[in-house]
Amino acid sequence: MNATKAYAAQAATTPLAPFNFERRDPGPKDVQIEIMYCGVCHSDIHQVRDEWGGSIYPMVPGHEIVGRVTQVGDQVKKFKAGDIAGVGCFVDSCRTCSNCQAGLEQYCDNGMVATYNGREKVTNQPTYGGYSTQIVVDEQYTLTISPKLALEGVAPLLCAGITTYSPLRHVGVGKGHTVGVLGLGGLGHMAVKFAAAFGAEVTMLSTSRSKEADARKLGAHHFVLTSDAQAMKKVENHFDFILNTVSAQHEYATYLNLLRTNGTMIVVGVPPAPSAVPAFNLIMKRRSIIGSLIGGIKETQEMLDYCAEHNIVSDVEVIRVQDINQAYERMIKGDVRYRFVIDIASLK
Ligand SMILES: [Zn+2]
Ligand SMILES: [Zn+2]
Repeated sequence: MNATKAYAAQAATTPLAPFNFERRDPGPKDVQIEIMYCGVCHSDIHQVRDEWGGSIYPMVPGHEIVGRVTQVGDQVKKFKAGDIAGVGCFVDSCRTCSNCQAGLEQYCDNGMVATYNGREKVTNQPTYGGYSTQIVVDEQYTLTISPKLALEGVAPLLCAGITTYSPLRHVGVGKGHTVGVLGLGGLGHMAVKFAAAFGAEVTMLSTSRSKEADARKLGAHHFVLTSDAQAMKKVENHFDFILNTVSAQHEYATYLNLLRTNGTMIVVGVPPAPSAVPAFNLIMKRRSIIGSLIGGIKETQEMLDYCAEHNIVSDVEVIRVQDINQAYERMIKGDVRYRFVIDIASLK
């Protein structure tokens, strides 16, 4: 077994604190990774605080993991010691259902095994995530990462990156499309980068004028302040797609009206309560709403390769693990541009 240092929550109401546990020895198909960076996702806070129910404690969060391979099992083909590797939101799935067979493991009919706050298939032991010094994962669920990119900026691609890349690819965003990105946070800033890289005309839709300069730097061609009624009127019936990243309570109907005929709103943010969808807002222009969850292993690899080729990384603020509780408080206030990433060297 492998002694591992981590930060964990012992209960929904306690701050994260140091925690030691053992990782399994790598099996024949496993990759052992010494973690270098782990991104901090808003879902970490929801799960640490048991806001979605069913949380398992102690909990070591973290599903935006980048590190260096230290050891591989004798059947591993893709990795060797010294390679850079990544782990995203899940570390296993049933491998046999139609979704797993189609490379859509995130929609596994029997439930994917979350990187943390999940249970391992064979042992039923809780999974522990990336706020830790190392992780052992089946190579089939481990991603190859180019050493060319700044690795702290790569970590958030494993969740925030694929969450926005996958639906934009699914609906075929490209040249000639108008895309609105609603909300400029961890997800929104990646959505702007990808939509612009795919050739679309991108508009940032934000509640905060202070985000305009950043939005343009990230690649947005236009900025609309959503509280400005006149500016909103100008983009009615305008967008082919709106990528809705907002997790605060809001009215979908307001933004559906910005879609042109056959336009699609893609929902990736999760507000705490349902938002009403008046049928007329859909019917009058044959609009649709779809949802999307992260991405499968094959597409996540494709996204990482695309980012290496096009030099795309997340904009990050690197922190020490000892500062994680303050970082959570800042995230809740929206005070991060645009992702905290833990330097795991601070744990050693
Ligand atoms: Zn996440
Ligand atoms: Zn499955």
